[in-house]
Amino acid sequence: VIEVEELTKTFGPVPVLNGIDLKIRRSEVVCIIGPSGSGKSTLLRCLAFLDPYTGGRVSIEGQLLGYKQQGERRLMQGHRELAKVRRNVGMVFQHFNLWPHMTALENVALALRVTRKLKADQAEREAREALSKVGLGDKAGNYPSQLSGGQQQRVAIARALAMKPHVILFDEPTSALDPELVGEVLGVMRQLAVEGMTMAIVTHEMGFAAQMADTVVFMDRGVILEQGSPDEIFKNPRNDRLKQFLDTWR
Ligand code: ATP
Ligand code: MG
Repeated sequence: VIEVEELTKTFGPVPVLNGIDLKIRRSEVVCIIGPSGSGKSTLLRCLAFLDPYTGGRVSIEGQLLGYKQQGERRLMQGHRELAKVRRNVGMVFQHFNLWPHMTALENVALALRVTRKLKADQAEREAREALSKVGLGDKAGNYPSQLSGGQQQRVAIARALAMKPHVILFDEPTSALDPELVGEVLGVMRQLAVEGMTMAIVTHEMGFAAQMADTVVFMDRGVILEQGSPDEIFKNPRNDRLKQFLDTWR
């Protein structure tokens, strides 16, 4: 679904991603771990083209994301073209980014009207469906302030899900939650994984990664130092920095 080749990203003169190669296959769950500042969020943002990348390629379903090739030259995609490729990518952030003045239903429905251009009644129907799917069918009329953190994050997941994306990217979806609320969000993600959703998840929930990931990717200083199955990464790490990193989580 996603193919990343030699991806680089700099902020001004500062290199943040230094040549990332990564493939995410259909129905695969890829968990990305690594120390703070290693570039995990930047990588996800580049995969959704929230940030333009500097070099290399990101393709979604075989379509180049963000750029088009014209002979030897690489040009930025036009707004429409970009929107078309990007529509296949859903994103869930650490902070849920819900509109505070809109109900759960309105938050999800608005996204559908804007990005999928659905009519109001169709958007509302699909929004309700997505909310039921994350177990919030009865909370559709609540404002974010009337929802727990875990529920707000499930609304954010419903909003991503309602777009019917081919892949959903999660950036530390449970890091802002009180410990007792983490489980319900991981539960929804587990259900999506079981149903075959393709997902890339930046997370510090090593238990979840060990249990649910098909592939675990360890990033440090803008490169992937090791990737493999959860067993390879957690039980049999080879890279010294990865070993060190895992020790801090034990
Ligand atoms: P964390 O675990 O703390 O979330 P991360 O692995 O997600 O860290 P990033 O947020 O991707 O790390 O940041 C990687 C590096 O890029 C950091 O050194 C950060 O300071 C830098 N960086 C990120 N965003 C910007 C920006 N908009 N402008 C300049 N530098 C940035
Ligand atoms: Mg981050």
